[in-house]
Amino acid sequence: MALSIKWSIQRITTKFEFKIARSAESYYDVVVLELNDDEFVGFGEAAPSKRYEAGPEAILNMLSSKKDAILNLPVDDAESRQNQLEMMFAESYSLQAALDTAFWDLYAQRQGTPLWKIFGGTQELVTSSYTIGISDLRIIPDKIEEARDYPILKIKLGTDYDHDIMRAIRGQTDKVLRVDVNEGWKNLDDARRGADWLAEENVEFLEQPMPAHQLDDIAQLREYSSLPLVADENSVRPEDIPGLVGAYDGINIKLMKCGGLTNAKKMVDLAQKHKFDIMLGCMVETSIGISAMSQLGSYARWLDLDGNVLLAEDPFRGVGNQAGKIILLDKPGLGIEKL
Ligand SMILES: [Mg+2]
Repeated sequence: MALSIKWSIQRITTKFEFKIARSAESYYDVVVLELNDDEFVGFGEAAPSKRYEAGPEAILNMLSSKKDAILNLPVDDAESRQNQLEMMFAESYSLQAALDTAFWDLYAQRQGTPLWKIFGGTQELVTSSYTIGISDLRIIPDKIEEARDYPILKIKLGTDYDHDIMRAIRGQTDKVLRVDVNEGWKNLDDARRGADWLAEENVEFLEQPMPAHQLDDIAQLREYSSLPLVADENSVRPEDIPGLVGAYDGINIKLMKCGGLTNAKKMVDLAQKHKFDIMLGCMVETSIGISAMSQLGSYARWLDLDGNVLLAEDPFRGVGNQAGKIILLDKPGLGIEKL
């Protein structure tokens, strides 16, 4: 069956300004793909991060220039398809991810099977965290209230008022807290002090405490601290994983960094081989991206798949999220519906 494809930019708005150590945004432009074979439609999403690549306009240009080649990619040979995607779109992992997702969705729909079953997963998942971005201290009570149904919070730090943020949050809740510094601590002494007081605040783990290029410092921090360290900006692609042994306890896998589900599954296998705990994470994304990553959910010790619930309005429906519990669907493929 001949394939056709269409794409569009969708502007998605977050409930609150979404601020991390290096950026602050209240909306994001993502690229949505629909891959059609006249019987089924496979959905994919590119949510490009400024940390890693160019924006959505550049993605549309790449799509236009390679449209015929895209429509000739194999639906049922993910490995070969991914190799070709990496050659065609070396500069955009989120575009690779969008296309890989759309092809997997189409493939699984043709099989009449949920994608998580094809990946050998189960339907039972651990509870996902809900992210509290960096905020003005006056807004923190509203954010904690907004997150009242979610039992696990992921707190973004890496500011010069980290203590005040944590004090404000801990003053209001004794929930499980995870901390993501997004490379915000630039020297080892600061990082050691940070890890010490966060251990006292009863934090579960520390994500990317220092810049990715300071891997030696991070390894020293791991020796020093009792908190498990999880790599994110250090854990981009499958080939990064072996080099993280000794510096981290776990790795965060994101579709938009690694180039899609084919590579994400490769990272899962490598993480297991090197005895890393696995976290699955996301950018601010619609239910397309979140549903895609959720298909590998049963391989994770930690889930951070809240990009769609941070939105004021999600243009798609896919996996459910009931108080952090991700509900995988029993529908063929990803089970995406356009709203
Ligand atoms: Mg992170």
